[in-house]
Amino acid sequence: MKAFVDEDTCIGCGVCESLCPDVFKLGEDGKAHVIANDCSAGCCEDAKDSCPTGAISLK
Ligand code: SF4
Repeated sequence: MKAFVDEDTCIGCGVCESLCPDVFKLGEDGKAHVIANDCSAGCCEDAKDSCPTGAISLK
């Protein structure tokens, strides 16, 4: 499973990075970026469920 962030929807709140720092990282553009190819860790689901704008998808 891989995580994706919709950069148009992301507001850069940092919740995903704080919950799952091995997968999500805020960039200098103020948007979250996916830094891991694999997202089987449970924290990815937590990040997806906790994103306030629904910007994260898992496929
Ligand atoms: S939790 Fe959602 S809105 Fe917040 S930084 Fe992550 S992807 Fe962006």
